[in-house]
Amino acid sequence: MVASEHDLELVAVTKRYGSTLAVDAVSHKFKPDSYTCLLGPSGCGKSSTLRMIAGHESVTEGAILLGGRDISQLQPAKRGTAMMFQNYALFPHLSVLDNVAFSQKMKGIEKDQRHKSAGEMLELVDLTSLSDRMPDQLSGGQQQRVALARALITRPQVLLLDEPLSALDPFLRIRMRSELRKLQKELGIGFLHVTHGQDEALALADEIIVMNNAVIEQAGSAREVFNTPKTEFVAKFIGGHNVIALPEGAVAVRADVVKPTQADAGRVNASVVAVEYQGTHVSILTKVIGDHEVTAIVPDAAFFANPFNPGDQIGLTWDQEDQHRLSA
Ligand code: ADP
Ligand code: MG
Repeated sequence: MVASEHDLELVAVTKRYGSTLAVDAVSHKFKPDSYTCLLGPSGCGKSSTLRMIAGHESVTEGAILLGGRDISQLQPAKRGTAMMFQNYALFPHLSVLDNVAFSQKMKGIEKDQRHKSAGEMLELVDLTSLSDRMPDQLSGGQQQRVALARALITRPQVLLLDEPLSALDPFLRIRMRSELRKLQKELGIGFLHVTHGQDEALALADEIIVMNNAVIEQAGSAREVFNTPKTEFVAKFIGGHNVIALPEGAVAVRADVVKPTQADAGRVNASVVAVEYQGTHVSILTKVIGDHEVTAIVPDAAFFANPFNPGDQIGLTWDQEDQHRLSA
């Protein structure tokens, strides 16, 4: 395949802060012009990776390629990337329009021209009517859209977003994430979005990159990562899975494909620890031999056709194709 100017690639990228190894020889070719989420627990190296791509942090070793050229030593503004910050970092003394136009002012672009460009960006994020407001007259969601417009005015090939939704309340977070996804599809550029929320990554991403302990554990489409986690870490972090140690090795099995049966009639025997009614379904927490916890999620009608209680001995079964062997 011919390299396009939008191809972003990390080649054995390492980041050390003194003796802390924050990113350990990470290599990855990003899917071009896609919505990619970098997902992992706090401290795993997500922000360091993003900041190195943006140029706000130096690379200790390795290379960052965009469109085939190594951008790792370039100034942030020369890279073809733009970063939207977690705290938005708007200038309090500048209007919305001037905040968006600021980078063009720094470049010496004339007032009329930069206001025109800024106006176009505000239209894109649906904020035209608030151009003259000051940042402290905006809601959190509106401030975030200004920050987006301010990043996009530089016409980046890749937009970098570090936990962009974490400061919003849950309702707004869900609305903003669908707006982000829509905007990415409209612009047709790559968005690389850092998050520690698996539901956010599943909802947004064409590709999810799961990081843990400074390395990539798994990368793939949202469905791939959710349905076929490769490691115990990914299975547990992405949620909805049981990790079960069978004589032939550990496997991951989604909680919603585990079916309760009579004792000795399933793949494993289990004792029921708790039964929780959750409206459309019932969640059954059990313990299998070796004190492993296994959860089965069954439709409400199926459970009440054949109910049982904490303390009961039952069997648990699932289809062979629903179990996925874990490599670690
Ligand atoms: P994440 O964004 O996944 O939470 P970070 O990339 O911020 O992770 O941090 C990865 C590791 O590097 C952590 O151990 C963190 O404490 C450390 N770290 C991050 N930034 C710095 C810094 N400026 N100086 C020293 N250590 C840092
Ligand atoms: Mg971070």
